[in-house]
Amino acid sequence: MTSVSPHKKAKALKPGSPRPAKELCSECGLCDTYYVHYVKDACAFLNQQIDNLEEQAHTRSRNLDNNNELYFGVHQDMMAARKVEPIPGAQWTGIVSSIAIEMLNRGMVEGVVCVQNTKEDRFQPMPIIARTTEEILAAKVNKPTLSPNLSVLEQVEKSGMKRLLVIGVGCQIQALRAVEKQLGLEKLYVLGTPCVDNVNRAGLQKFLETTSSSPDTVVHYEFMQDFRVHFKHEDGSTETVPFFGLKTNQLKDVFASSCMSCFDYVNSLADLVVGYMGAPFGWQWIVVRNETGNSMLELVKDQLETQPVMSKGDRTSAVQQSIPAYDKGVTLPMWAAKLMGVVIEKIGPKGLEYARFSIDSHFTRNYLYVKRNHPEKLVAHVPEFAKRIVGQYKLPE
Ligand code: FAD
Ligand code: SF4
Repeated sequence: MTSVSPHKKAKALKPGSPRPAKELCSECGLCDTYYVHYVKDACAFLNQQIDNLEEQAHTRSRNLDNNNELYFGVHQDMMAARKVEPIPGAQWTGIVSSIAIEMLNRGMVEGVVCVQNTKEDRFQPMPIIARTTEEILAAKVNKPTLSPNLSVLEQVEKSGMKRLLVIGVGCQIQALRAVEKQLGLEKLYVLGTPCVDNVNRAGLQKFLETTSSSPDTVVHYEFMQDFRVHFKHEDGSTETVPFFGLKTNQLKDVFASSCMSCFDYVNSLADLVVGYMGAPFGWQWIVVRNETGNSMLELVKDQLETQPVMSKGDRTSAVQQSIPAYDKGVTLPMWAAKLMGVVIEKIGPKGLEYARFSIDSHFTRNYLYVKRNHPEKLVAHVPEFAKRIVGQYKLPE
């Protein structure tokens, strides 16, 4: 007797072999599994379908006439939050890890897809299905490199798991939503983080070497709301470098082509998103997209201090000025960069306006990148919301 498979399968692609999305591949991991059968439909870089998937995940697509939805996607609530007792060594205060731990320990899910690092290299991603608190905690902190989180999806089906939490960034979650119905789950929970400017492992090395004074001791870094990159080193010290002092001429090619053509910065298809950029300095930013996301957040509410989101300043002239500067790869001398950082921190955009600043700067840059490098993809690949956002600015040819 032959068993009937619930879905179609194809042979996983071999590691290192060319991917269907070619240079735009973000190594999301789908093609490492037999779900590669669905790649033409599912890949975020071959078939942008955020609208349809928003309807599937949240019962409606975003309202483009509502400015907060235009920028941050479908949501029912937003807030700033931080853990009263932060998890040491987490990227921020560890809200993501804490939610995952509660979901597992309360039996809401049987496993959590997350990403640890290899023994040899703290920044080399190693996706796993965590089944214990310890395994979730070992996945804390960003691996600031492209990570094949979906490569463990075959194991989900083989293990017979029915309730699963997946933690991931936008491109991973787009592909996941597209194959969600094929996974044989009773319930899928999706906990997303925003994501931008990711790199492969070699690109990360170049970034660290051109930007930090001690690249080998960096354990953690973040582009913070005070317009500086904060590097944390092994000895606990912090080094800050102003955004405007980054060596853009050397860093131009460092970001992965996938990230230069991505317009899902805010992880539109997750149930719940935890980042930082819409919150005051030191706080995390939470976007609750639907009821499932709300039920996930409720589990940790008693561990959190929260405050309403705020918005201050006007980003538009700073964004407009940054467009040609990035385009021409201009690098300011460090004294000027520091001065500009101080001024902009004092009078610059704050809270949700800072998030809009970051979205506008990246969407305009990425729009130009797609237009120049993949003009045939421009119409279908750039979502309507991103076209509206980019349309507010004057772009060079
Ligand atoms: P922790 O409790 O430390 O948990 C981190 C979780 O992230 C872990 O569960 C791990 O599985 C997962 N993870 C780590 N690396 C990856 C990866 N490469 N791919 C998928 N999952 C991963 N937020 C913003 O607001 N603005 C940004 O511009 C921004 N850029 C980001 C860029 C990258 C590459 C990443 C991975 C995240 C980014 N974030 C951004 C999210 C932010 O940095 C924090 O991850 C988030 O606020 C959660 O912090 P935490 O302390 O709660 O997480
Ligand atoms: Fe495959 Fe993911 Fe790469 Fe697309 S981004 S080609 S789905 S591995």
